[in-house]
Amino acid sequence: MVTRTDWISRSANIKPRDLMFIDGDFAGAKSGKTFDAISPIDQRVLAKVAAGDTPDVDAAVKAAKRAFENGDWRNLNPRDKKAIMLKWADLIRENYEEIALLETLEVGKPIGDTSGYDALAVARVIQWYGETIDKTYDEIAPAPKSALAMITREPLGVIGAIVPWNYPIVIASWKIGPALAMGNSMVLKPSEESSLAILRIAELGIEAGLPKGVFNVVTGLGAEAGQALARHKDVAKIAFTGSGPVGKLMMQYAAESNMKQVALELGGKSPQVVLDDVVDIDKAASTIAWGIFYNAGQTCNAGSRVVVHEKIKDALFERISAFVKDFRVGDPLDPNTQMGPLVSLKQRNRVCNYLDLVGQQGERFIFGGQKPTGNDCLIQPTLIDGAKHESKLAQEEIFGPVIVAETFKSDEEALALANGTEYGLAASVWSGNVSRAHNFARQLRAGTVWVNTFDMSDVITPFGGFKSSGSGRDKSLHALDGYSALKTTWVDLN
Ligand code: NAD
Repeated sequence: MVTRTDWISRSANIKPRDLMFIDGDFAGAKSGKTFDAISPIDQRVLAKVAAGDTPDVDAAVKAAKRAFENGDWRNLNPRDKKAIMLKWADLIRENYEEIALLETLEVGKPIGDTSGYDALAVARVIQWYGETIDKTYDEIAPAPKSALAMITREPLGVIGAIVPWNYPIVIASWKIGPALAMGNSMVLKPSEESSLAILRIAELGIEAGLPKGVFNVVTGLGAEAGQALARHKDVAKIAFTGSGPVGKLMMQYAAESNMKQVALELGGKSPQVVLDDVVDIDKAASTIAWGIFYNAGQTCNAGSRVVVHEKIKDALFERISAFVKDFRVGDPLDPNTQMGPLVSLKQRNRVCNYLDLVGQQGERFIFGGQKPTGNDCLIQPTLIDGAKHESKLAQEEIFGPVIVAETFKSDEEALALANGTEYGLAASVWSGNVSRAHNFARQLRAGTVWVNTFDMSDVITPFGGFKSSGSGRDKSLHALDGYSALKTTWVDLN
C-alpha cells in the first residue's frame, strides 16, 4: 500500500502539465498569461497554469471543428472508435495514482478517495461509453410500404464543456464519454481551481489514438476562457456543471450568440428525510453523515439537510454525533483520512460566513462550528439545529461539511419541508414501511431519490436535477440523447 510518506515524496517530485491542450499538443496562452494553481493543503503554488482567453478558445474550437468536419473521429469505424476509448480508459487506469495525486494536491480531496474512486471512475465512464459505440442502433419508422423512413442520431458538432472543481475529472468524464461516443468533438474548460488532472487525462487520450483536435482543454478563468467558449458561434452545445448564477449566464451567452443548446447541472440542498418508523437508525445515522461529510460537503447532491421526525430527533443526533467522533479529518495525503480541507481559502471563508449566522435566530450547533484561522482550509463536520425553514441556512447551498436539521410531526409536513427549496437534485427517505417510503419517494421533486440509503450511484443511471438544480442529464444511455440530434431521412421507394 502507498503510505502517507510515499505520497508526500511523490508530491515533491510531481511535474504537473501547466499548458492548455489544443489540437493534440500542449500550448501556452497566446497572451502569455498564467494563473496560480494553489494547493489548499499548504497554499503551495503547484503550477503556473496557462490562462486561456478568446484567442485560445478560438484556436481550440477551430481544431475541434476541423476534426469534426474532416470526419477524423465521427466517421471512424465504430469498432475502431470503441477501441480508442477502451485504450484511453486502460491508460487512465495505468496512471491512476498520478492522476489521483494531482487532484488531491489541487483540490484537497483525500488521496484514498481520489485514488480509490475518482481516477478509476473516470476510466470506467470512458470505457462504458466506449462500449456503447458499437451497440447503439438507429430506428426505422413504421412508414407506408412505399417509403423507407429512417431516424438516425447525428452528432451535434463541437461541444463546449465547462466543469467545476468538486469532482473535476469525474464530472468531465460524464460529458466526455457520451459526447465522444456520439462522434462529436470537444473543448473542455476546467475550473481554475482544478486544471491539472484533466490535462494529464487529455494527454493520455492522444496516446490512446484519439485524432488530434477531437478533445481539447482550455484552462483559464471562468469570465475569460469560459465566457469565450460559451459565446463561441461554432460551439453547438454547452454542457455546464456548476453554480446557479453561472448557469444563468450560460443561457444568456447562448441567447446572445448562436442559440446553442445548453445543458445545466447545478446546485442542490438535498434533504435526507427520516420517518419515525426507520428500522436501522444506526445505519441511517452513518449514511446521513457520509452523505454530507464526504468530500467535505462539496458535492452538488450532498445531503445537506436532515429532515427528521421530532420523536426520533434526539436518538438520531446522538448517533450521528457518535459516528462523527471517529471521523478522521485532516491531511488529505494520509490514506486513512476521510475528510480533507475545502478547496480554497475563498470557499472556506464562504462556509464560515454561514457559520456566523448560527445563533442569530435561535440556531445552535449540535457539534462542530469551529472556524479555522490563518491558511487552514479544514472545517470540522458540523450539525446545526433550530434553523427556520425560510432561513439562509436551510435554503442556500453552503457547499461545506455542514448539515442543517429540520423537524416534522406528519408526513405531509415532512414532504413540504423536503420539497421546500428552489432545488431538486436529490433526496432520500428512510422508513421501514415499503408503501409509505415509496409513496413518499414518488412525491419528492428530485432527479434522484434514494430509499433507505444515500449517494448510491453508477454510470448506469441518469443524474441531474429538477427545478433550479438544472435541466440536463449526465450518465446512462440517456446522456447520449443530449449529444445528438435526431435526423429523419424519408426515401420514396416507388
Ligand atoms: P462555478 O459556477 O463558479 O464554476 C463552474 C465553472 O464555470 C468553472 O469552470 C468556472 O471557471 C466557470 N465559470 C465561472 N464564471 C463563468 C463565466 N462568467 N462564464 C463562463 N464560465 C464561468 O461553480 P464552482 O464553484 O466551480 O462549483 C460549485 C458549484 O457547482 C456548486 O453550486 C455545485 O452545486 C455545483 N455542482 C453541480 C453538480 C451537478 O451535477 N448538478 C455537480 C458538481 C457541482
